[in-house]
Parts: sequence; structure tokens; C-alpha cells
Amino acid sequence: MKLRTSCFLVLALATGHAAAEERHLGPHVHGQATLQVSVDGPTLAVGLSIPGHDAVGFEHPPANAEQTSTLAKATETLRGGTWLVPVAAAGCKALPAKVVADGFDASAKPGAHGDFDVTSQFTCANPAQLASLDVGLFKAFPALQRVVVDIVGANGATEQILDRTMTRVTLSP
Ligand SMILES: [Zn+2]
Repeated sequence: MKLRTSCFLVLALATGHAAAEERHLGPHVHGQATLQVSVDGPTLAVGLSIPGHDAVGFEHPPANAEQTSTLAKATETLRGGTWLVPVAAAGCKALPAKVVADGFDASAKPGAHGDFDVTSQFTCANPAQLASLDVGLFKAFPALQRVVVDIVGANGATEQILDRTMTRVTLSP
């Protein structure tokens, strides 16, 4: 089921973008999240993968009540969707985000990595105004240093790197 979810994510969002696919399937880099953005008419689809290390500080099933609560809090933050804010002029409305915490249940292999995978979709009333997205992940997850953003739109695929001082994704509507 997990494998199926991540394959779907790659197929749905990378649309043949080989670099994004390799990155998603390979081991993650601590401090670095990957964000896939695809714009198709009024639909803005987003896929985020953030290492457990950066989201909650551990990558194994929770070992105590504190870790259980940290895990639940991170899941809630990611599901809430305020970590990604499209420019207001585009009039985008979010559908409920889907969050999968991979590697945090009892079937996780000891010593393996764990990720949070988030898929989210917006419908935008004025897609011609969709010029930027503000990413609030650095505020929510202070351990995070970089977000590699892959963008697929009408003009092809581009990549942008965000860091703690540069948190805006620029789109060309
Ligand atoms: Zn890891």
C-alpha cells in the first residue's frame, strides 16, 4: 500500500520528470524537503516529502507519549495546509490534504528512514493570477534548511531551491 502511494505520487506529479523521480525514490537528505508543484488550468496539485528527522526529530515508531504527541502534531500541521499559501489574487481553495507518515508504524524496519508524504490540491478561480506560492514549512519545522521545488506547468518543468531566507515559489501563469 505504501509503495503504491509513492508510485502514484511520482506518476501524478513528476509527469516524466526523471530527476524528481530519482530524488523521491532515493534516500532522503536530512534538512531537505522536496515539493512537487503542478499547475493545470484551475488545478494546483502539490506533493511534499519531508524527512521525519526534520518534521519530528526521529524516524521510528514513537517510543513514548511525547513522541506520539509530536507525531500527531506534525501530521495535523501538514494536514492543515497553511504551510502552503497561493497568492490571494488567484482565489485558490484547498481540498483536504492527505498525509502519510511512512516509517512510523510497528512494521517499520529498524534503522530505516521515515518521511511524511503530503498530497494536496487547490482549485483556483483566477489561475491567470497564480504567480507565486508562499511556503511556511521553515517556520513550522525549524530543523528544515532547504526545500527543492519541482514545478510542472504549461511552460514545461523548472526547479527552484528555497531556504530559510527565500520562501516564495515563483510561477509563470
Ligand atoms: Zn532520514
